[in-house]
Amino acid sequence: MYKILNNIKLSKNFRLSEFICKERKQEVLIADRLVEKLQALRDKLNKPITIVSAYRSPSYNKKINGSPKSQHIYGRAADIKVSGIRTEEVANIAIKLGFKGVGIYDTFTHVDIRENLVNKVGREYDYWDMRTGK
Ligand SMILES: [Zn+2]
Repeated sequence: MYKILNNIKLSKNFRLSEFICKERKQEVLIADRLVEKLQALRDKLNKPITIVSAYRSPSYNKKINGSPKSQHIYGRAADIKVSGIRTEEVANIAIKLGFKGVGIYDTFTHVDIRENLVNKVGREYDYWDMRTGK
């Protein structure tokens, strides 16, 4: 574990503090590839991305009833909002940019770089829409 002493820049538009656990603020895990892909998404959208939640400690994940295998606990996922762009539009672009897990929620889009796909329909990514349950 590392103590966060310095809010370092991880890429052109993202800083370490945006990825830390909302509850255990000294804890963070961040996959390099997640940052790279988020930056690619940021560049493509040409708008600021607000990270609602990225890393979650296992205890925090449990507390908020996150999936036990949530990509958030591995530092591979982020829930994001982009002002002025609909969640499904963000999702579609994220898929094109190579995010492997993309979920649409009422107020944010979940994106992750999961390694093991769980879909059974032969897609190269997992996709779900919590608004419709599909
Ligand atoms: Zn998420």
